[in-house]
Amino acid sequence: MRFEFATAGRILFGPGSLRDVGAMANGLGQRALVVCGSNSSRAEPLLSAVEAAGLKCHVFETSGEPTIAHITNGVNRVREFGCDVVIGFGGGSVIDSAKAIAGLATNPGDILNYLEVIGKGKPLTIPALTCVAIPTTAGTGAEVTRNAVLASPDHHVKVSLRSPFLLPRVAVVDPELTYELPPALTASTGLDALTQLIEPYVSIRANPITDAFCVEGMSRAAKSLQRAFDHGEDRAAREGMALASLLGGLALANSGLGAVHGFAAPIGGMFAAPHGAICAALLPHVMKMNVRALRERMTAGDALLRYDRVAALLTGKREVGARDGINWVTALCDALRVPGLRTYGVTENDFATLVEKAAQASSMKANPIALTNEELTEILQAAW
Ligand SMILES: [Zn+2]
Repeated sequence: MRFEFATAGRILFGPGSLRDVGAMANGLGQRALVVCGSNSSRAEPLLSAVEAAGLKCHVFETSGEPTIAHITNGVNRVREFGCDVVIGFGGGSVIDSAKAIAGLATNPGDILNYLEVIGKGKPLTIPALTCVAIPTTAGTGAEVTRNAVLASPDHHVKVSLRSPFLLPRVAVVDPELTYELPPALTASTGLDALTQLIEPYVSIRANPITDAFCVEGMSRAAKSLQRAFDHGEDRAAREGMALASLLGGLALANSGLGAVHGFAAPIGGMFAAPHGAICAALLPHVMKMNVRALRERMTAGDALLRYDRVAALLTGKREVGARDGINWVTALCDALRVPGLRTYGVTENDFATLVEKAAQASSMKANPIALTNEELTEILQAAW
């Protein structure tokens, strides 16, 4: 057995933990670029706490998924203001923007030098600026991952900037920040979190540390997601999903993902669909296909037993098998009104391109079994 485990330098978790940010920020630096969504008034309590700790704040608003041009703009702001800290306050896209800006601000030259696929893919060689990540959704786990997904509208793709230097110095996960998420966003982000607990658990790179996180996270998500969707004000359910999301981030950053995320990258690059919604549409169908392929031709490993364990964790019952887990996820997706991929403009004519790109995606390499192009096409058809 060989593995590595790395995460944020500190993790603060709990309702009200945003109020501890002031004390935590004291000593982190002098000037902060605060990256947030387009409604920066939501960040007021954060700004007051950080300014009370003696840091000067510059607000940098983002909207939608981060583009290369926008990140370059953020890096320029950091240099212009002389910021030594970057704080991300928002959903996964905002957190990824903050991580990318912090990483690129210290590394010289064009951003394309450091991007995979469309650039030179050179590693970052200089540690990032201090980055503090504060998620306001419960889904991506981006506060504890070491990549940032950036869109290149010119190339119609999404690419990752990857480096251990992108792990934030501090992650602050406050479930109170998610109390007002609308049901549709609770569903898509929550199903992304669930996917990010199931995929690392059955991944060929699973390790005992991430297994423990996945087991805990799956049972929390199973008890909390439907409740958070039906009753957004339910504190226990929101806390359960915030923790499930964090645990999913810890797991995926160290054990990889699988076919759902292998597809999510090219679909997200070609269509204007939120990441969580794409994962939600694919999850039950990928589980079904993986189990079928494993039954047909698994030669080694314990992935099928792991799918049985997933079923037990999700249903809360002992005498169940992989099939029951798939049925449970299918029923949850129906109850959470997850639309098919055609909703986002995907047509059957796109299947061949999507399969070709997904087969090359880095997440696909961690899938518990190599799927054929025919099997990948069947998944798209089922999720369509
Ligand atoms: Zn995801």
